[in-house]
Amino acid sequence: MIQRTPARIEARLANNDNRTWQQLLSDSVTTPEALLAGLGLDPARWLGGATAGHRLFPVRVPGPWLARIRHGDPDDPLLRQVLPLHQEQEQVPGYVRDPLDELAATPATGLIRKYRSRALLMITGQCAINCRYCFRRHFPYGEHRLAPEERERALAVLRAAPEINEVIFSGGDPLAVSDRLLARWMAELSGIASLQRVRIHSRLPVVIPQRVCDSLLAWIRQSRLQVVMVLHVNHPAEIDDEVRTALARLRAAGVTLLNQSVLLQGVNDDAALLATLSETLFAAGVLPYYLHAFDPVAGAHHFDVSDQRARALARELQARLPGFLVPRLVREIPGRDGKTPLDLGLEDDGTSAEEARMSNLVNL
Ligand SMILES: *Cc1c(COP(=O)(O)O)cnc(C)c1O
Ligand code: SF4
Repeated sequence: MIQRTPARIEARLANNDNRTWQQLLSDSVTTPEALLAGLGLDPARWLGGATAGHRLFPVRVPGPWLARIRHGDPDDPLLRQVLPLHQEQEQVPGYVRDPLDELAATPATGLIRKYRSRALLMITGQCAINCRYCFRRHFPYGEHRLAPEERERALAVLRAAPEINEVIFSGGDPLAVSDRLLARWMAELSGIASLQRVRIHSRLPVVIPQRVCDSLLAWIRQSRLQVVMVLHVNHPAEIDDEVRTALARLRAAGVTLLNQSVLLQGVNDDAALLATLSETLFAAGVLPYYLHAFDPVAGAHHFDVSDQRARALARELQARLPGFLVPRLVREIPGRDGKTPLDLGLEDDGTSAEEARMSNLVNL
């Protein structure tokens, strides 16, 4: 058992001060040196790999996330998500820069439309945290935001496509931009009669729970559009009391809360842990939505979990949890009209679900 150290407690106290989310965001740890020093990890052991990885995709960790990491534990599952390792430099065949072929599906700058009824709006390329396994780690958009004429073009595409009833705010992290800008998007989208919902894909309410501030709740409450928020939580230790409070405020404003996780080696590739994650989410008012099979992104091969193991974990989850707490195990395959579920019916020995049912009947 690793003891809570004064440094950890100090970091936690620092989170309880009155800094706004913007201050917390700009006070983030952005160098490997500061990350290791803040957590009491030996630079001789970790700095080389971290610095090399940092050059490929910069370190970014806000204070509230840092405070949830166990001091001195290099295997901490929250640390693993943000600390670059030397493996990031290795080139492994089959791991590519754009595994989802997203750059090919862009009808207007900032708008990605792969599926018939919903379009994804890349509000900003900026994130509050840089996750090492992110499939967007190689995207060329940096901190780019849509220029006004690009916004008009994206809105024109949406107006001309009445079959789209849902716009997904994505990024980057769409909540990394100001509430003024988000309120303006909401007002424009509310004027498009065919739209019913806005979905927000964000890690910010978890990474910096202070992001759920009054001005965020104001534009959510004011809109005629239903708001769904899809969080991104991979491990139960990401949810602390401050996060719970933020989620309760979102729910009180009428937001439907869902979660997507990525299955990651060394972070959450364990059935008991995933079951605890689902229970912890539900206790905080969040329904599990997707469990993403790993996308083969270059520089992150050390997070990969085989499909066979992913299926075994998902079957184990089904056995442990009520159906509504089992996230759908999916993969995005370029060119399909939705996410592709990984079939759990096939046993590892190749027996199909149908054969399994038949053999159960025979056994009766
Ligand atoms: C994942 C994704 C969506 C949303 O898909 P759902 O199955 O509705 O959650 C929409 N557009 C793009 C481009 C996506 O990658
Ligand atoms: S897009 Fe999501 S997964 Fe990728 S770095 Fe940003 S917050 Fe992390």
